[in-house]
Formats: sequence, structure tokens, C-alpha cells
Amino acid sequence: MTDSDLTDRIDALLPQTQCTKCGHEGCRPYAQAIAAGTEPINRCPPGGDEGIAALAAMLSVPVVPLDTTRGQHGPLLVAVIDEAHCIGCTLCIQACPVDAIVGANKRMHTVLPDLCTGCDLCVPPCPVDCIDMVPAHRAWTPDDANSARQRHQARNARLSRLAADNAKLMADTMQTEATRATAAHDAERKRSAVESALARARARRAGK
Ligand code: SF4
Ligand code: SF4
Ligand code: SF4
Repeated sequence: MTDSDLTDRIDALLPQTQCTKCGHEGCRPYAQAIAAGTEPINRCPPGGDEGIAALAAMLSVPVVPLDTTRGQHGPLLVAVIDEAHCIGCTLCIQACPVDAIVGANKRMHTVLPDLCTGCDLCVPPCPVDCIDMVPAHRAWTPDDANSARQRHQARNARLSRLAADNAKLMADTMQTEATRATAAHDAERKRSAVESALARARARRAGK
């Protein structure tokens, strides 16, 4: 089995909330670290004991208790925005790993509860503290996990494209500025050469 196959199989057992509580930027990087043998299997609070047992069985390693320094396992929560107090700053949208929040700049924002993974990453950035995590009153299903994985991958791809576009724009702008600076320098050199020639001509005339 290749490292990538093993990562896929581990990733398939992780809940895909993308909460980063394991200390990684999402479930896939944690799966890669487990596959590489650099991380233990007990750092995923959303997966809890069930998730650890599934990983242990698949990897043929002993079951270990959840590392509670990473958080506690608990029922699924969902984010709710107090829309009356939302100032439309968009910080929560930027923090959401699965694009589960809709809204526009200076407009009220709303969480789409069916898409929310309960990761609570949108809570700390909110400057007016108007996001609450409340019980979802439902269980997180494998379909939810698959959908969250796809949404997270789509978001990562979009952010990568944006970063590449920004880098290209920056490079183009710098190139344009460098071209302008060279043109200005050339123009200054020509002006200076013409002035010198005129000065020499004037000096010759004055010397006659
Ligand atoms: S659900 Fe959270 S803690 Fe578990 S692997 Fe994914 S990002 Fe890490
Ligand atoms: S809305 Fe908040 S809690 Fe829900 S997935 Fe997005 S960031 Fe996580
Ligand atoms: S971070 Fe808070 S104030 Fe800003 S858009 Fe989100 S909910 Fe509204």
C-alpha cells in the first residue's frame, strides 16, 4: 500500500469537521501525519473513542484513550449567528473551513445548519461575539463527513487559485513598475545627453 493509499484510508475514518483540534490544518494533514507515524491516533475529539477504535483496528495498533488536551468528545453542535448584532464584517466566512456561512460585506450573515460541522472556528474571530454554538440535535453521519471533505477541498482549491492570482498580479505589477522605471531612467538619460550636447554647442559658439 502506498503512503497515499494509507492516508486515504485513515482520512476516510476521520470525521471531516476540519476543526483543527488535532493540531493540524484539517483532517487530511492529520491523516498524513498518522500514516507517516509522526502522530498518535488519539488526537481527534470529534471522532472520540469510536474513531480511535476504528483507526486502531485498521492500523492493527492498540486502542488508546482520547488525548483530552485536544478537547472533549461531545454531541454535535451547530453555529448560530445572532443576526440582529451581526455587523457583516465577513471574518466568520473567512474562518469557516467548509463554506457553511453566507453573507456579504456589511450585510447580515447566516449559518447554513446542514453544512455546519460544529468546528467552532468562526466563534473567536467574531468582533461582536454574536455567534453561539448550540446543540444540533442530530448525529454527524458519514454523508455529512463526505460532504464536508468535498466542501473543504473545494475551499482549499479556491484559496490556492486566489493566492496564485494574487501572486501573478503582484508579479505583473512589479514588472510594470520596473518597466516604467527603466523607461523614465532612459528618458532622463536622453534628456541629459541632449542638454549636455546643447551646452557644448553653446560653449563652442561662445568661444568663437
Ligand atoms: S475532525 Fe478535527 S480533530 Fe479530527 S482529524 Fe479532523 S481536524 Fe483533526
Ligand atoms: S459555521 Fe462556524 S462552526 Fe459551522 S462549520 Fe463554519 S466555522 Fe465551523
Ligand atoms: S464575524 Fe460576527 S459580526 Fe462578523 S459577519 Fe460573522 S457573525 Fe457577523
